[in-house]
Amino acid sequence: MSSYFLRIALPTPLNRLFDYLPTAALDPTGLVPGIRVQVPFQSRTLVGILTAIVTETAVAQTKLKPIIAVLDDQPILSVDVYQLCQWAANYYHYALGEVLTSALPVLLRKGKPATLKQKSKTKKKLEITATIDDPALLPTLNTAQQTAVTEVLNTKQSFQVFLLDGVTGSGKTEVYLRIIAEKLAQQLQVLVLVPEISLTPQTIERFRARFSVPIVALHSHLSEQQRLQGWLSAKLGIAQIVIGTRSAIFTPFAQLGLIIIDEEHDTSFKQQDRFRYHGRDLAIMRASLTSIPIVLGSATPSLESLLNMQRQRSTYLSLPMRAGDATLPTFQLVDVRRMTGTQGLSPILLNAMHAHLSQQQQVMLFLNRRGYAPVLYCITCHWTAKCQRCDTRMVFHKNPPRLHCHHCDARTLIPTQCPQCSTNTLQPVGIGTQRLEQTLTQHFPNIPIIRLDRDNTQRKGALQALLMQINQSPQAILLGTQMLAKGHHFPRVTLVGVTDADQGLFSADFRAAEHMGQLLLQVAGRAGRAEKPGTVLIQTRHPEHPLLQLLLQQGYAAFAETLLAERKQFSLPPYAYFAIFRAEAAREEQAVNFLMNIKRLSADLVKTVHVSGPIPGFLPKRKGMHCQQLLIKATQRSLLQDCLKAVLMQLEKLAVPTSVKWVLDVDPIEL
Ligand code: ADP
Ligand code: ZN
Ligand code: ZN
Repeated sequence: MSSYFLRIALPTPLNRLFDYLPTAALDPTGLVPGIRVQVPFQSRTLVGILTAIVTETAVAQTKLKPIIAVLDDQPILSVDVYQLCQWAANYYHYALGEVLTSALPVLLRKGKPATLKQKSKTKKKLEITATIDDPALLPTLNTAQQTAVTEVLNTKQSFQVFLLDGVTGSGKTEVYLRIIAEKLAQQLQVLVLVPEISLTPQTIERFRARFSVPIVALHSHLSEQQRLQGWLSAKLGIAQIVIGTRSAIFTPFAQLGLIIIDEEHDTSFKQQDRFRYHGRDLAIMRASLTSIPIVLGSATPSLESLLNMQRQRSTYLSLPMRAGDATLPTFQLVDVRRMTGTQGLSPILLNAMHAHLSQQQQVMLFLNRRGYAPVLYCITCHWTAKCQRCDTRMVFHKNPPRLHCHHCDARTLIPTQCPQCSTNTLQPVGIGTQRLEQTLTQHFPNIPIIRLDRDNTQRKGALQALLMQINQSPQAILLGTQMLAKGHHFPRVTLVGVTDADQGLFSADFRAAEHMGQLLLQVAGRAGRAEKPGTVLIQTRHPEHPLLQLLLQQGYAAFAETLLAERKQFSLPPYAYFAIFRAEAAREEQAVNFLMNIKRLSADLVKTVHVSGPIPGFLPKRKGMHCQQLLIKATQRSLLQDCLKAVLMQLEKLAVPTSVKWVLDVDPIEL
């Protein structure tokens, strides 16, 4: 009989640890927690992480199985990443085994050895000094930038949050680069989180041009082997800078000295499926666990970060002016209420486009709707094409021709006759990027029109080719979805047109206005980033809308202040804390019943939270499943957490019918 048991976290949704026996040949006292082990589990073999070596177990010894193999001799994750995973598992109520596994590169999850390939030898580290390629070419920082750099560098290596609030083009990136240079000189590593790295190769290039140290970019276009190598080189202290998207927050470092989050307001930091963590929030936790400073940068800070600043949980750094000689663009609202037959382009916008193009400048048009038209409609019987599996319309695409559900990815042929009344009176209604592109070709036959959306950037290298084309065309019309708004630097663009600003003004989601404001300013931020001043034209049916007026006349700070006051009045985040149980089932009542059970549990257990629902989800039906949700609100985080813990404990004892799939989303960003 063994007197030692190995307590192991395994990638299963079961929220518990599993005890195993050591193999006969193994001295369990020689094992360190944090290493990977291979174990038999049901009929499979799983790779798990040893969390503890214990001398007692609640499982009958005859039922315990020995492990199959020990895969590491040293812990695979650093102590701070391990602690971060524990914190996250607890806070998001997600199984620790799954959290730990998701922190690992896929090859390590599969049990592959954690060995770095020869080419980047550890020795190299000794030769690295934080050299800046050509200091003579660096711009002289303006006063605001200098203050920001000094404030961050003045903190000794201890936890502190900085909110760097700087309008687009104010030189935030330059501030990051200066702070990083100093950290590198102190032999410290730096983690930079960005929203969507593959969209902004320019960012990485800028870092590579500035520093001749090993820089690792972790993004979705890497092979699993490349990802593993990058991850290991950070862990071993070889990579000095890691730039990555949200999951890079789990990268282990030998000597992490600073975290930077660029565009901290961006919702892509929130993972929207499976393990639903917020990359920004975990980054702050990580900085706290590691005792290092963290800089959150944005031109349009999230209301969460602004409130934290007001509550003195972060230090405010502001860059109010554009850097160098660039000035902020001027805004103009274009009332399109009485304009029909313009195909999305008002005469005012068209005239402005002609004027800017004739001066060898570029124009950017923004339309957050891909495809040709959002609706296929029968003018005889009013039929519209709907997705068979979702409560939503099929989007009409022309190239290649098909109807496409943007929610479940279903694709069908375009009917030539109306399926309901058999007439030939089907018409695409509304404007997507493909249709706008076609209209532009008619208005501007001699100008290159460059479209950029998810449909034409999926192929590897496609985005790069389009960006290159943009850089090489003196005159051009760039046209795209919010992909165009993110982080790009197009110096020739002097006019930005927002073809439909109304999508965010009247939405059931309480965050819609905040996101609309952020997006408008991000889009506008693409205009006039070089010497020439920029103009932004915003087409709307609601030019008098108070939020739009406030945003454009008084700026983002006043806009955010008003939104915060509203959130406070109605007890919404960030003044309250939300969690959502979402349930899916083939029949609606199965989902409803399940959530009603949770509602009863929470009512019995805690009187300090407010529970509302169940109500149908944003899409009541998705992929053929009925979606319902239950919202739990509390005025304090701890009250919410207490409730969730109690409910989940009770829920484990109930037999949840297998017909119901459910998830818990803590701090949801979409309702
Ligand atoms: P942000 O990250 O806030 O959008 P960047 O750091 O990209 O701003 O700066 C915008 C542009 O201004 C870049 O071309 C950058 O090189 C330049 N720039 C930044 N700081 C200065 C400065 N102090 N003087 C002159 N140009 C600057
Ligand atoms: Zn019809
Ligand atoms: Zn669908």
